[in-house]
Amino acid sequence: MSAVDNKSYLNLINGKLVSAQNGRSLDMIDPCNGKTFATIPDSDEADINAAVSAAQTALDGDWGRMAPVERSRILHRWSQLILENFEELASLESRDTGKPITAGRADITATARYFEFYAGAADKLHGQVIPYLDGYSVNVHRVPYGVTAHIIPWNYPAQQFGRSVGPALAVGNAAVVKPSEDACLTTLLMSQLALEAGLPAGALNIVAGLGESAGAALANHPHINFMSFTGSPRVGTLVQQATAKHFVGCTLELGGKSPQLIFADADLDKALPTVVKAIIQHAGQTCSAGSRILVQKEIYNEFMAQVAELFAKVRVGTPEMDLDCGPVMNVRQQSLVDGFRTDAIKSGIELLAEGVFADGLDQNGFWVKPALFGNVPRDHRLACDEVFGPVLSAIPFDDELDAIRLANATDYGLVGSVWTKDGNRQQRVAKRMNCGQVFINNYGAGGGVELPFGGMKKSGHGREKGFIALEHFTTTKTIVHHHE
Ligand code: NAD
Repeated sequence: MSAVDNKSYLNLINGKLVSAQNGRSLDMIDPCNGKTFATIPDSDEADINAAVSAAQTALDGDWGRMAPVERSRILHRWSQLILENFEELASLESRDTGKPITAGRADITATARYFEFYAGAADKLHGQVIPYLDGYSVNVHRVPYGVTAHIIPWNYPAQQFGRSVGPALAVGNAAVVKPSEDACLTTLLMSQLALEAGLPAGALNIVAGLGESAGAALANHPHINFMSFTGSPRVGTLVQQATAKHFVGCTLELGGKSPQLIFADADLDKALPTVVKAIIQHAGQTCSAGSRILVQKEIYNEFMAQVAELFAKVRVGTPEMDLDCGPVMNVRQQSLVDGFRTDAIKSGIELLAEGVFADGLDQNGFWVKPALFGNVPRDHRLACDEVFGPVLSAIPFDDELDAIRLANATDYGLVGSVWTKDGNRQQRVAKRMNCGQVFINNYGAGGGVELPFGGMKKSGHGREKGFIALEHFTTTKTIVHHHE
């Protein structure tokens, strides 16, 4: 396994590393300089068809009959192999996505941990025995769906691959993965490690390509049995419509506009670095980025002055510089984030602070200056829409009721945090926030392999991570036995 420049990465279909059948490839661009540094297959429907049929064959063969403990051992070996190739995978993840090398390392650690966690869980998912009528025995089995489809975004390619495929394989599904065309090299590289770990041919298939061709072919495929989609609400809607045509269920992990609520009695010294990191991590390109900071009026000016001071020290650079964040993913993302900034400035919203670029950055990189805006009007799009960039909106609130209303006032509901020393308020507010995870006096953008994760409202439905993902990648079969 090696991560050299100008390498052509390949699909994994039916246990073989292959190019797209049409022979085409796509360039992979380094976000720090805009230059091509690798290629991936530009797959289409033909490759997706081959992958789905390989998955079906695997389910009919050894993989479908494999004991849970054997699946567990394979996932465990895979996790170990990821750790054995740690530095190579971490630097490739950073190169592909532009994030600091420390963040790339954290991502590969988490990816290995996903496979370790689900390896441990594979043989611990039990069914139920239901007491029923005299002369009957009723067993409820948890069974895999069959062929699971996985469509993955570019912001945390390795982690999202692990968190989705880990539980799906642990419970015995055969997976077909369509990673993002913007960043997916570690996924393709890890597929070789899966083979080394002993995963049978067809149990895992990875087909790289564009969303509108390979992605749409997978979502519309009549023989997939479950879909796990992570990405934007726009594409999530298309994917759900496509899977509905074949009565296939899906998990949608979409975007967010997650609030961080700072009450006047909060430990501000503790909150300060966390609220800045929660938006700066991976240049704000984290679904659960803490992109709104809601601060109680009494302390708004004092606390925001401290946030601004820290924000002005945020440094942007290349992965090797290992600063606070890197560039954004591509030109599209750069102009989207710039659009939000320009629009906010035009609307007269106060720019409280900006981060700084390191010296010597390549001007063809997709750099954006982190920006902190204050007193953002509650109905402005900066207060309501996902930017998916390093832009933090601050809004003052009056009291607890106002804070809860404001926290729940967007279409999204992914994550939130509450900062207060009042134990009663911690529980009251956490319970009334409409989102999938609430952090009290801490914030974990994207963290926690063990913690159930997923959204409400426009942030999606279904849950991944933790033990609950095993339930999401299985269905039940109730067997009723009548014996005289
Ligand atoms: P995206 O929706 O553009 O793309 C996601 C995936 O969908 C990619 O693999 C893409 O190729 C594929 N795709 C695109 N068009 C398709 C189509 N017509 N049919 C099928 N597949 C198609 O999202 P993105 O820009 O890669 O990622 C950013 C978004 O993802 C943000 O909104 C972010 O909040 C969200 N996200 C959510 C989570 C979460 O867990 N909730 C995690 C990461 C990212």
